[in-house]
Parts: sequence; C-alpha cells; structure tokens
Amino acid sequence: MFAGFFKTKAPLLKPNLKKMKKVMLFLVIAVNEFAGFSQSIIPCTTDEYERLLIQNNPDMQIAKDRYLDEISRLVTETDKSYKTGAVRIIPVVFHIIHQYGEENISKAQILDQMRVLNEDFRRMNADTVNTRAEFKARSVDTEIEFKLARKDPQGGCTDGITRTYSTLTDGGDNEVKNLIRWDYRKYMNIWIVKKIGREAAGSGIILGYATFPYSTNSSNDGIVMISSRVGTIGTSSKFNAGRTLTHEVGHWIGLYHPFEGGCGGSCNSTGDRICDTPPVIASSNGCPKNNNSCNNDNPDELDMVENYLDYSNGNCQNAFTAGQKAVINAVVSNSSYRGQNVSVTTANATGINTNPTCGPKPDFHTISRRTIVCEGSPLQFEDLSYNDSVADRTWTFEGGSPSISTFINPTVTYTKAGIYKVTLQVSNSSGSNSVTKTAFITVLPATSDIKTPYQESFEIDSIFKKEWNVIEEGSFSWKRNTTISYSGKSCLQAVISSATPVNYRFNVYSPVIDVSALGISNPTLSFRGAYSIADASKSELLVIHASTDCGETWKSVKSLRSNTGLTSVEGVNLNWKPTSQSHWKAQTASLAAYSTTKNLMLRFEAISQSGNSIYIDDINIDRFGLGIPNALGESEFTIYPIPAKEQLTVNFDLALPTDVTLTMTDLTGKTIYLNELTSISKTKYDIDIFSLPAGVYFLKAVAGTYIGIRKVLIIKN
Ligand SMILES: [Zn+2]
Repeated sequence: MFAGFFKTKAPLLKPNLKKMKKVMLFLVIAVNEFAGFSQSIIPCTTDEYERLLIQNNPDMQIAKDRYLDEISRLVTETDKSYKTGAVRIIPVVFHIIHQYGEENISKAQILDQMRVLNEDFRRMNADTVNTRAEFKARSVDTEIEFKLARKDPQGGCTDGITRTYSTLTDGGDNEVKNLIRWDYRKYMNIWIVKKIGREAAGSGIILGYATFPYSTNSSNDGIVMISSRVGTIGTSSKFNAGRTLTHEVGHWIGLYHPFEGGCGGSCNSTGDRICDTPPVIASSNGCPKNNNSCNNDNPDELDMVENYLDYSNGNCQNAFTAGQKAVINAVVSNSSYRGQNVSVTTANATGINTNPTCGPKPDFHTISRRTIVCEGSPLQFEDLSYNDSVADRTWTFEGGSPSISTFINPTVTYTKAGIYKVTLQVSNSSGSNSVTKTAFITVLPATSDIKTPYQESFEIDSIFKKEWNVIEEGSFSWKRNTTISYSGKSCLQAVISSATPVNYRFNVYSPVIDVSALGISNPTLSFRGAYSIADASKSELLVIHASTDCGETWKSVKSLRSNTGLTSVEGVNLNWKPTSQSHWKAQTASLAAYSTTKNLMLRFEAISQSGNSIYIDDINIDRFGLGIPNALGESEFTIYPIPAKEQLTVNFDLALPTDVTLTMTDLTGKTIYLNELTSISKTKYDIDIFSLPAGVYFLKAVAGTYIGIRKVLIIKN
C-alpha cells in the first residue's frame, strides 16, 4: 500500500514536512482484520484530532507551544529530581458506550487491559527480551501506574467502569464525551466505542485517539478507543497485544509520534523532539527491524520499532525510553498538566487505594437482543448488572409467565399480544437498586387484527407511528415525508445523501398483517417507488424481507437496485426527489408463499451508497398488485367533493365502455362498499356515504387492466 512509498531511504534534501503531514492523514495500514477479507487500519488519529482542535481554537496552538517550551525546560530539571523511584498512580475510568452489542465488553476484559497498561509502563511486560541490544539500555520503567477509580465524582462507590447506552457508540466519535465525563484533573477518562468516526467508515478502522496534556478544553480531555482493541481477551482476543491503549496513554501523558517532526539532525525539533528516540520519516508498519528511514539523525540510528509511540504492530512494540520517561515525569510533576491526577488529594478523592464493595447497578436485556416476539414464543433475559456482584435479584415481568423470577437469565413466555414493562432489582450487602424498562417487550398476535386487503399510504402520522416501526441507525433512518407523495400528501423516505455512509443499512418494519384473510393463493404486495441515481456506478439498494415469526427470521421477497427496476427516473441526478406522479413507478412482488400466513411482517431495508433517497408510497397487499394494471389517469377517475359529507360523486372519463369494480375500504383494510358497474365510459356515479363515520377511506376502481385508488375524506357536522 502507500506505506511502501515511505520505506525508501530518505532523500538528502530535507523533506517537506508540511507535505508529509498531509500525506500522513491518508496513511493506512492493510491488515487482515478477519479471515477472508482485508480492511485498512488507521492506528491512531491523535495528530488529526490535535490539528482539528487547533483549527477550531487558535488558543490551542499557543497552549501547545507553551507546553513544548515548558517540557523541554522541565525535562532538564526533572532529570535531576525524579530519579528516586517514586511511583505515580493515575486514577482511571472506562466509560463503555454501547448498544448492548459485543462492544459492551466485560469487566474481565478491562482488567486485562489494565494489566497490559501497567506492565508496559512499568517495563514488566514479558517481551522486554525482544528489545534490540542497541535500544535496551535506554528502555525503562516509567514509574507510572494506573488504577481503576473506586469513587465517582460524587463520592459514590464505583468499580471504575460506567456503562451508557447510546447509538453514538457506532461512529459517534467525539460526541460520546458529552454523554458522560468525569473531572479530567482527577480521572483519566477512556471512552470505549464500537466504531470511531462514521465519516471514516469508508477509509478504514480507527483504533483510537487521545488529547495531549496541554488540552485547555476539559470537555475534550481523554482517550477514545474501540472495544475490539481493549486488552487481549474477549472481543480483542484476535489482536493479542492490547497496546492501542498503551500508545494512546502515551499521548495523553505528553508523548508525540516519533514521525511527528520528520527526519533531521537536531533531536529537539525533529521526530518526537526527544533525543533518545530516533526520528522516523513516516509511521512504521509491521515490525521492520532493519529500517533506517532517517539517515541524517545524529547519531544515525535504526528506526526504533519497539517504541510504543510508533505504529508498528503491538507485538513488535515493547519499550518506552528514558527520554520519554523524562517528559512523562515533567508532565505529571506540573499541576497545569497531569500533576493533579497523581496528587494525594486526588488519590483520596478517587478512592484508588481502597477496595470497597459497591452496590450493584442493575441492567438487562434479552439474550437475543430482540424485544419483539410472537405470542407464545419463549424469550430469555440476561442480567447485565455491573459495578459489583449481585447477591440477590428479583425480576418482574408484566404480562409474562413467570411474572417473577430470581434466576440470572430467566426464560419468559408472553401469551397475550401487548406492550410490557420489565423490572430488575439487584442487591448485595452494600446496596439495592432497581431499573424498570417501560414498553420494553412488544408481543405481536399470532393472528393479526390487521387484515388484507391492506393499504398504507403514510398519510396519518398516528397510524404510522402506532403500526410501523422505524429503526434509527444513529441519525440515519426512514422518515415520513409530508411534502412528497404519489397520492395524498405523504410518503416514506429512506433519507440518503452524500453524508450517509456507504453500505449503511436502515430498516422500517410493517405491522403484522393477516394475509390469509384474502383467501386467495397469490396475494400481491404492491407499492409506488421513486428513485434516481446520483452516481452512475453506485446504486442504492432496496430489499424487502418477510417474516412469519415476528421478526426472528427473514426471507427476501424482492431486491431492487437501479439496473433491476429501482430507478423511476433515468439519468444521473444529484440530490434528486420526485416532483410529479410520473416520477413514481409501480412495484410488485408475489406473496404467494405467504397466502395462508396470519401474521406477516415486512421489512423495507435501504442500503446507502451515499447517493439519493429512496421513496415509497401506497403500499398494498391485495389480489391485484398496483403494478400489473396501468394506473387510471387523474382525469379518467376523479372523486368529489373533498372532503365529503353525505354523498360522494365518482366521475369516470374512459375512452371505451369498460366494466368497473368499485371497492371502498377503511384504514384497517376492511371492505365497506363494493359495486360492480357494467359498461362505464363517461359516467357520473354517486355513492351514499351518509351512514359512514368520519375518517379516511380508500376508493379503488378496477377497470379491466387499469386500476386507480383515491383517498376519500369523510367529515361530519
Ligand atoms: Zn498515536
């Protein structure tokens, strides 16, 4: 990859640092993330984050310059005063931001990370034997240790781990710091997320980033890293070094990358500005022990790929140098930087030298993470309580059987459709806490009250909200659009633009529908779709799935992309949206496989290519399928008045005499009017609606192979 470019010997001319930094932004390292395919890895974005902070706040540049000046002075002083073997301890809090996925890592995995971090900073790591002879003498114990906090900022008992549910775990980036943060002058805040930087989703996996000690904005201070690199066990067991955090804590405590300042003879201004860490022209990749990327350093030495602050593989890294230790010492000795973190006052305030038993904090989910089930399907719950061990627990399951349990992971069956709450109370000798999740479990009927023929045109918000279920992925989702439609005023839009990440999937779920009510062998799903491509080479995808077990398993019903029928307006059109009825296309799919299903659920899945939105409207499940016949034109089939009170007039203007079937249904799909008209061409026809309650109805006219549906609004008074 690009890395190879940097492996050539440095040119004799001084490299253009500005230019190099720009290239570095895009330097990524290809690693086999999972067997079978390769994803690029961006080990650390601390430099980019520092640049961003300085860009947004010029005072940061002043603070950085002052920091660099002061450190170079303090290093000389502390070299003299800190050789006494004093160990400084930094209180740590891990904020796990999660959506109940595997990113909600175990306490054991965090303890394993703490072990690695302490071993690395104290040079008690097993692989010190791998430090090459020329670097051995300068590789040292930094005399810094880390301990999980045992008191939270309010003085409450903690095990040093917080757990916060948020969709921001999936690429929310720096915003996660606003969810929870503890005083940075006392605690080293580490936020654990599933993914960093949604906008970087296409360019690679960012492992972590940190702020430097001069960071004057306390709300930013700390480290963000991904859950799959914490420690060496659990979700990190594929990556057995656990040194992402060692590297990031290195930044947090004052160290720069050895490639930060490029090559050169003056160690105070090149590399990481530390004299016993050889400058490296660009980040190392892998474990290249014979590399000497800078040949004008003095003395001219090989690249020290063992250094934790390079990008070499975690199992290649094994050392901090005496020079790095001097900077760390200077930083923790200065109360403007990390001095307060290691003070006696802070040690007491954070309880790091105590070992209390804390009251457990209750949390739970279902083992499958599903919260929607069919009547009668068993559902197993999982106690996810944290902060300390649970001695006693009581579950309360509204509407469930059993209704009370003391098991860790009880299995519960719900026999009646409805929406139910769940409560978990946990306790030990130090305290008792409970949590209730209202409307947590949705139980769907085995036979739906919603019968075919089914129609949904997204006109009425309350019905859409009650019956349909939109799953948001961060800020991306399907949304009801009240200004764009095929019929009426509203439609459903999978909101996609250039800001939507590639391959982002979002879903909207239909209510369960009794398809068997039609009593035919070939019911048809039909709807109107509108889409035009924004990039000729990349089409969004619309996939329609069906489930007969309330969403537990799914089968694909139809898959549409631009070259398989999704496009309703040809050509490449940026930021396109439909502006007339002719921009919509009739779509159909056979539901013959579900003709006897009493609880069909449909899922419309949109997959982004950072292009244009997909619009759908007028979903029908009936015997016809809107797309098979042609639509009756606006003037061929009209109704008035709108709204209507006592009588509705239907006006046909057909070219040839045709038999017409007129059907009116209410919002539940129930047929309330049916009439067969023979030999209609230019005919006015009145329907008495006096006895019908106020509301929205649909009038459908089937004229040979032509079909039209009109919305009828009936008012009273
Ligand atoms: Zn870094």
